[in-house]
Amino acid sequence: MKQNRAFFFFGAVFLSCTLLFSAVFRVCLQQLETEIPTNGSSIRDSPVIILDAGHGGEDGGATGTNGVLEKDLNLTVTNTLAALLRLSGYTVVETRTEDKLLYTEGTKKGHKKQSDLENRLFFTTQYEQCLLISIHMNTFPDTFCQGAQVWFSPNHPTSRELGERIQNRITNLVQQDNHRRIKEATSGIYILRHAQVPAVLIECGFLSTPSDCERLCTPEYQKKLVLAIFDAIVKKTEL
Ligand SMILES: [Zn+2]
Repeated sequence: MKQNRAFFFFGAVFLSCTLLFSAVFRVCLQQLETEIPTNGSSIRDSPVIILDAGHGGEDGGATGTNGVLEKDLNLTVTNTLAALLRLSGYTVVETRTEDKLLYTEGTKKGHKKQSDLENRLFFTTQYEQCLLISIHMNTFPDTFCQGAQVWFSPNHPTSRELGERIQNRITNLVQQDNHRRIKEATSGIYILRHAQVPAVLIECGFLSTPSDCERLCTPEYQKKLVLAIFDAIVKKTEL
């Protein structure tokens, strides 16, 4: 009888200790998870990144001095950036991955461009937390213009901050001779004027300037640009 009682007593003590230990262990683990955010958790909490390759299909955008079409370069740069961001764990949505405009089927002639822009903008209303980066190439009658120019949306304070970071990273890492400053979007940039989320448009360089056009067509230069933009986005979303 005595032996049985001792057995139950030690059994109860052992069980209590085990439960207590596992409870303490669980609390400690929770503490660690909340106090030390890992890279994984910062990426998980970061906004959906909407990448928008400008133009497409019947709208080629600007034509380069060597005949390259803006719509094709936009898509190449956007695809590379999307792949890099996805590899790093970010959620990326591309407005287009093919050579086409995004107007709604059945849209009448003369209204296709507007429909296309509205459908691109629609992406920004589909996620609780997102930011938009639109990729374009510039053109200008003066053939000496070169370098990237970033435009930002006036509707969200983070747009300017993100735009400044991208412009600075491109200048520091790729185009040391670029002294351009970011600009607030004019009414001509529909997607930035209407986006209510952080939104920027990057004119990566001038297709109207032979030297700029040539380097924009080079995969090495495209990758450098992408890396600079990627670096700016990653630093921004970590804030
Ligand atoms: Zn364009």
